[in-house]
Amino acid sequence: MINSLKCIIFDFDNTLVKSNIDFPKMKIEMARLTNNFGLEFGSEEEIPHKYTAGNIIDKAESFDKRNGTMLVPELWQVVEEFERKGMENITIDQDVLSMLNSMKSFKIETTLLTNNACNPTVEVLKRFNILDYFSMIVAREDVKKMKPDKEGIDLILFKMNLHPDEVIFIGDSWVDAKAANEAGVPFVLIRNDLLDAQKYGITIWKHIRSMAELVQIIKK
Ligand SMILES: [Mg+2]
Repeated sequence: MINSLKCIIFDFDNTLVKSNIDFPKMKIEMARLTNNFGLEFGSEEEIPHKYTAGNIIDKAESFDKRNGTMLVPELWQVVEEFERKGMENITIDQDVLSMLNSMKSFKIETTLLTNNACNPTVEVLKRFNILDYFSMIVAREDVKKMKPDKEGIDLILFKMNLHPDEVIFIGDSWVDAKAANEAGVPFVLIRNDLLDAQKYGITIWKHIRSMAELVQIIKK
């Protein structure tokens, strides 16, 4: 598999960079908002595990259609506010830049697939001087369905004319794993030792703890 590797797809938050987006709090905040309109998501403790932001938006979209409400734009405002806050004190590990240079020397393309908005993502990549390393960036505006849907991966495969076994996907959460599994692309989990693969019905091909470890795997 490693011999045929032509491209790596990276998730963004807490994979390539360490952002501080409080996803559980964001989803609870979203659910509170929909609650005011009469759309309920059940107990607050369970919301972060049960729903993705995309799930909540999808349900709100059908709700808007049925009721003529405008929940979805308000939900996006909540998402953008949390993203903005989380990106303020974003950091990057020292080994990311050397990993990207290694991939360049191995002639392996590096691409990005994120559920975040495009502009703030590109801004962060520029801030860390790594934007030019990415041959393709797919953000939430580029797809109809975000991760855990496989649409973003399929789009990268199609645009770059690649077969699933020429690609690996690196991410830190179950939504990344699910998208990769559905697309037939091997999934590499980075950090997140507590991720329960069984609970989410996902398959993890390899588990790494740093980008330096990724370079080691690919070198072999
Ligand atoms: Mg992530």
